[in-house]
Amino acid sequence: MTFALDLSRFAVKKTGMSTATLTIDLTALRANWRALKAMSQAETGAVIKADGYGLGSAPVARALLKEGVKTFFVAAAEEGIAVRDAVGSGPVIYVFSGHMEGDSPLLQDHDLTPLLNSVDQLIRHAETIPDHPFGVQLDTGMNRLGMEAVEWFAVKDLVLGLGPKLIMSHLACADDPDHPMNRQQLLEFKRLTEGLNVPRSLAATGGILLGSEYHFDLTRPGIGIYGGRPFVKARSVVTVDVPVIQIREIDKGETVGYSNTWTAPTPRRIATIAAGYADGIIRAMGPKIRAYAGDVGCPVVGRISMDMIGVDITLLDHTPKRLSLLTRQQGVDTVATAAGTIGYEILTSLGARYKRRYIE
Ligand SMILES: *Cc1c(COP(=O)(O)O)cnc(C)c1O
Repeated sequence: MTFALDLSRFAVKKTGMSTATLTIDLTALRANWRALKAMSQAETGAVIKADGYGLGSAPVARALLKEGVKTFFVAAAEEGIAVRDAVGSGPVIYVFSGHMEGDSPLLQDHDLTPLLNSVDQLIRHAETIPDHPFGVQLDTGMNRLGMEAVEWFAVKDLVLGLGPKLIMSHLACADDPDHPMNRQQLLEFKRLTEGLNVPRSLAATGGILLGSEYHFDLTRPGIGIYGGRPFVKARSVVTVDVPVIQIREIDKGETVGYSNTWTAPTPRRIATIAAGYADGIIRAMGPKIRAYAGDVGCPVVGRISMDMIGVDITLLDHTPKRLSLLTRQQGVDTVATAAGTIGYEILTSLGARYKRRYIE
């Protein structure tokens, strides 16, 4: 075997290895909340569970506090700690999972308001911290959390005597405005709460879009604030910029990445960029997404690895230092569709490796 030593071919350009950057546009996030508030015929809260849908619950909470949010929701008492530290003592922080065993000190120390989901939770609350504020979550058909109708009617008078701050339920199909489940749950929620002198909440992002009938006293948007469907008019909040680690020229017939799934049809210029499925760039997105240099989308080629992705940059007239995987042209919902999932899962999968940058 002989080597035709074409030096130009080995003049591989290397840029410094570093991690990808997650940029969170808090101005866009605030604008999205304002837009959802403008649609809500009610007070508008904000759901910042799962570390603010993966974007950082403290900076998100602080930005929304400035915008005037007075009511926040988290999934678990533990998540409420960071939010309370971020927003100070004024706002209400509700906990969807309610009052779990061992939660009493957390709820008390950080002034978190559990949404009691069962008679068991009600008893636990009344026995451990009877004077601590609480709300109630009712099941209107989703069968995930909340007291069932029979349970509720059995304890309703007792609960009302204790002064609940909120009665809420959650819609299962609100992302589909034509789904009959929406109206069915609305009617059930009314049946369970009619005539009670307690603030009510039913609508998340999808419910806000269904119209004012669904809004009651307080809406609870999450995904729409972060720029995702079903709030299609949302401004994009997140961008992911990934450094180029290495660039190479390959010949027609050469392959890129694991399992040789992509073969160059003609000579190509390939960039290897420093992000992968460990960063939430899900492997299944592979052939369907692009990496953007400004407005130009370059095809992702070969398998997405844990920490690296191959990109065909032949059509660029320059050598990029970084390429964008989440950008205005290719938003959270576009990449979610490419992976066969939803924007919620993309945002919460973005992972811990990114350098995070917040734009005020
Ligand atoms: C997650 C969640 C929300 C927010 O829903 P989005 O679809 O993200 O707006 C509201 N209420 C409950 C009970 C939730 O679990």
